[in-house]
Amino acid sequence: MSEAEATAADTPSNFIRDIVKDDLASGRVGSLITRFPPEPNGYLHIGHAKSICLNFGLAKEFGGRCHMRFDDTNPVKEEEEYIEAIKEDVRWLGFDWGEHLYFASDYFEKLYEWAEHLIREGKAYVDDLSAEEMREYRGTLTEPGKNSPHRDRSIDDNLDLFARMRAGEFKEGQRVVRAKIDMASGNINLRDPVLYRILHATHPRTGDAWHIYPNYDFAHGQSDAIEGITHSLCTLEFADHRPLYDWFIENLPVPARPRQYEFSRLNLTHTLLSKRRLMQLVGEGHVTGWDDPRMPTISGMRRRGYPPEALRDFAARVGITKQDNVIEMALLEYCVREILNKAALRRMAVLKPLKVVIENYPEGQSEELDAINNPEDETAGKRKVPFSRELYIERDDFMEDPPKKFFRLAPGREVRLRYAYFLTCNEVIKDAAGEVSELRCSYDPQTRGGNAPDGRKVKATLHWVSAQHCVPAEVRLYDPLFTETEPAIADDLGQALNPDSLVILDNAKLEPALADAGDATVQFERQGYFRLDPDTGAQRLVFNRTVGLRDSWAKIQKQKQKS
Ligand code: ATP
Ligand code: MG
Repeated sequence: MSEAEATAADTPSNFIRDIVKDDLASGRVGSLITRFPPEPNGYLHIGHAKSICLNFGLAKEFGGRCHMRFDDTNPVKEEEEYIEAIKEDVRWLGFDWGEHLYFASDYFEKLYEWAEHLIREGKAYVDDLSAEEMREYRGTLTEPGKNSPHRDRSIDDNLDLFARMRAGEFKEGQRVVRAKIDMASGNINLRDPVLYRILHATHPRTGDAWHIYPNYDFAHGQSDAIEGITHSLCTLEFADHRPLYDWFIENLPVPARPRQYEFSRLNLTHTLLSKRRLMQLVGEGHVTGWDDPRMPTISGMRRRGYPPEALRDFAARVGITKQDNVIEMALLEYCVREILNKAALRRMAVLKPLKVVIENYPEGQSEELDAINNPEDETAGKRKVPFSRELYIERDDFMEDPPKKFFRLAPGREVRLRYAYFLTCNEVIKDAAGEVSELRCSYDPQTRGGNAPDGRKVKATLHWVSAQHCVPAEVRLYDPLFTETEPAIADDLGQALNPDSLVILDNAKLEPALADAGDATVQFERQGYFRLDPDTGAQRLVFNRTVGLRDSWAKIQKQKQKS
């Protein structure tokens, strides 16, 4: 089987992919051209990743191409920062637009010409109604609208007024250009939609050149036509706009006729996928920024340690349909674990340390033990881990008075220290407050590497670090941002937030190899996957928990429901 065949066989099909296949087979289109068209008014979220994977994925699979186009028609909300962030996110996801980077603002002149064309054909007019009057005239879902009194202006007057709108002669809101379609249409999008509005705003790319800006609906389909997009893929809420897009394409001298296909948006539990709401979280300070590791943004997920392969795998599993549904966050986390389990290097890190002194280990001595980097990948090799008389173990791995099913360390009990020795707890030291502050233990030198020559068994293996060699770190543990499975979209988002979405452990102790973790997500044995955070400074390492080893959130929720 060739590589292309293998991909085709492995890719789960969907209705859009089937349409593309048929169109290529029948020759309706010569080669596939798709596009990803974000509005640069915020950072991309995991919903956008679904669209990116679909558009770039199809182009890759069928040997076509995918354009990166910024739909930058609203200068008021758009910023250069977002453009750069979006490009970075798409590249990080593993896609490349080559030379095909476009901006709707590149087409402003052409769009202006086309609006003039409609005016000349008697299919568009300048309207003086205020926004409120226009709303009244528009009618409702059950009642038809009324024609504007300016609808029958002469073509010459319309052309003159449009030119003067462009020249900046009028105030914002004073006039608009509307298509002359049908004020009684059952589809409200066809009731003389606005094509151009006056905005005395500076555009990130065209500066102060324009005083009028095309509406999204007037720019979007024509931009697709200019670029020769064969399949314009968008989410379901634009299905009602399709007749309008088609009307423009039929009534304008466009160079190509794109066809639009709609699929359902991605919705995910315990979060919100709307730039507006995410902007609100950032603006109100509920998170530290768009790339806060709790955010459902691509940049947040990257910072948290999600690998791009996991996002692509997730998109493939979710698939493309026309049914609206809500996908479990647990599925995304599953995809993350799947990739990391194979790829992540294993390390030892103690998050809540408890000191252990091995009384029969010589003072001042230390040794290096072999540790396996990744049991799933032999080629990852081994590393040396320092061992000495004083160690840290996880506080939760010891109980002074253990219940029946607790098999870890307890007074008089023997356990295995991973890659090292068997260890027995002889004495518990407490501080003035009665808290366990230190364990006095002994080790069996015969058990180096973690096995007893006499074959005796222990019931638990603990991770540990050497007190003298370890590096201190802050570790940030994350849980879902919203407590509810499907958080209500309310103006007061603060109410719905999970108060425990971030827990900071500021006294973690890491094995020395973690000082060089770099950008890769690693596994802290028995704890989960973690990635170095950019807040790391010269003074301290900061790690983010990417995801736990098991789905503990679902378990906690179930317990909560029971109690
Ligand atoms: P938001 O509602 O978050 O502002 P948007 O649709 O306004 O999203 P755009 O920048 O216009 O954001 O979207 C770019 C592309 O991404 C569009 O084709 C859009 O359909 C798609 N997209 C946006 N959100 C989702 C989602 N949740 N699932 C799938 N595709 C999405
Ligand atoms: Mg939008």
